[in-house]
Amino acid sequence: MSAQIRPVLAGNWKMNGVASSLSELSEIVEGHARFPDVDLVVCLPATLLSRAQPLVTDSGVAIGGQDCHADAAGAHTGDISADMLVDAGATCVIVGHSERRADHNETSETVARKATAAWAAGLKAIICIGETRSEREAGETLDVLSAQIAGSVPVEATAANTLVAYEPVWAIGTGLTPTAADVGVAHAHIRAELTRKLGDAAMTVPLLYGGSVKSSNAAELMAVDDVNGALVGGASLKAADFLAIAAVFGKI
Ligand code: PEP
Repeated sequence: MSAQIRPVLAGNWKMNGVASSLSELSEIVEGHARFPDVDLVVCLPATLLSRAQPLVTDSGVAIGGQDCHADAAGAHTGDISADMLVDAGATCVIVGHSERRADHNETSETVARKATAAWAAGLKAIICIGETRSEREAGETLDVLSAQIAGSVPVEATAANTLVAYEPVWAIGTGLTPTAADVGVAHAHIRAELTRKLGDAAMTVPLLYGGSVKSSNAAELMAVDDVNGALVGGASLKAADFLAIAAVFGKI
């Protein structure tokens, strides 16, 4: 954690949730009052955003999308633009999640274009990077992170428009996590690479760790230098689980 950067707990509901699931969001909004020093964000399926917006108005809980197209508009059947997300109530969007990189063959260049599109619409971009299991086993983790930062993070990134999430692919949804020491090495490397690319602007860009975060491991992960918050999938679906992590952040 860092005294300079407010802790951020971002949830990613992925392809889960229908209107009735918004009771969980309402519970998160009620619970947030207990953790005013933690910024809470929930990245919802696009279908829920406009229904969620009135639930979070003036609450200090933000809602976001999980992807946007790199173009502002046009012939892209089934896609969603950054402007559409803003219109539905989003204030941020995840770009480059490993599931998008894998399922939709997204390259780092596409991810950078999506981040730029998000900014143009007024959204913050949560840019995801992280190595696969085979890359880790080959000792390539830091090289992969460097390449993904070079390709996915536009030079205009600042603390005001960007969060970077380190999500080892092998840790997502598996219950596995890197050691705190390994997370520390990765986050120090990410901060250094961002600083080389962005200069001083990089010093306050929030760096989130993502991959099987739950309340039982949150304290250890969040105590690591340069970890400023978490991106959470499975444990964001239930308000009680998400708020239990927020409670841990609130104490650090
Ligand atoms: C994610 O989807 O970004 C994620 C980190 O998932 P989980 O917390 O379920 O591992």
